[in-house]
Amino acid sequence: MPDNKQPRVTAAEPIALREAAQVLRDGGLVAVPTETVYGLAARADSEMAVAGIYRAKGRPAFNPLIVHVADIAAAERLAHFDDRAQALVARFWPGPLTLVLPRRLDAGLAAAVTAGLPTVALRCPAHPVMQALLAQTGLPLAAPSANRSGAISPSSAAHVAISLGERVDLILDGGVCAQGIESTIVALCAEGGWQVLRPGPVSAEQIAEVLGAMPEIGSGGDVSLIEAPGQLASHYAPGKPVRLEAAVAAGDEFHIGFGPVAGDVTLSAEGDLAEAAARLYACLHSGAASAKPRIAVAPISNSGIGEAINDRLTRAAY
Ligand code: AMP
Ligand code: MG
Repeated sequence: MPDNKQPRVTAAEPIALREAAQVLRDGGLVAVPTETVYGLAARADSEMAVAGIYRAKGRPAFNPLIVHVADIAAAERLAHFDDRAQALVARFWPGPLTLVLPRRLDAGLAAAVTAGLPTVALRCPAHPVMQALLAQTGLPLAAPSANRSGAISPSSAAHVAISLGERVDLILDGGVCAQGIESTIVALCAEGGWQVLRPGPVSAEQIAEVLGAMPEIGSGGDVSLIEAPGQLASHYAPGKPVRLEAAVAAGDEFHIGFGPVAGDVTLSAEGDLAEAAARLYACLHSGAASAKPRIAVAPISNSGIGEAINDRLTRAAY
């Protein structure tokens, strides 16, 4: 795609969805709203299309992509589901849970999608726009977050346009993402253990409820059983220093507040963690755009989705 092309942002209405489905079938890139963040979608069965994602994001080739599917049947054509996987998707799909499962040999996915791993990360999203594209194309769609690699994730179409602009063929505007934070990634390993590779809207406690007494590896277990490339220490970077646990900000700091800490903007004046997750990236984008050279963030409780918020903030501050 020529680099001088203007970003095209269009409301996610039926005509635009049909065009987007055609762009995807032709191997192009479409930015799509999901319930977590905006995704940069391409057909997952095409090496060329998938290469376009890596190129547009500047994403390192060792960092595998999540493949989005329309339903459980589509997922079962790509990966082997055991009883635990069946139970998890029955409970959490469609929704913000990604499962890393053994890839089927006949999955037909582009090799770059899984970065050469024998496993594949699968998610069935709930958002009606992504669902419509999956249904209309009949294809599995690879879709990482629609931002330059390492930068702040997008929770609105405007964020996508700022970060990727002309590098994407079409940006579908479906408003602000409801969850605002990336999916929980859970790996189930053949030995019976499981591990949260990335905290997200579905908590480890909710996973444990479904998997029963199954051992969680990583918390004292053998982490090395699961390969988790791409979870980099520095990520979501606003391009200026970020200080955490800041109840008070210095004069040159853009202050992101929470609860009783008012700040220049607030994640949630009521101290509501779900609202804070939904507003996290918008607040970081505001901090990045502000004239102040530094960002300070109020303390945020680590319970529930607070764990995922603090995970992202720690990487933003790295
Ligand atoms: P993103 O696409 O930016 O939401 O990131 C997806 C993340 O999923 C990657 O950074 C990996 O950490 C993880 N992931 C994807 N596929 C696999 C896999 N096959 N095995 C382990 N982790 C994976
Ligand atoms: Mg991302």
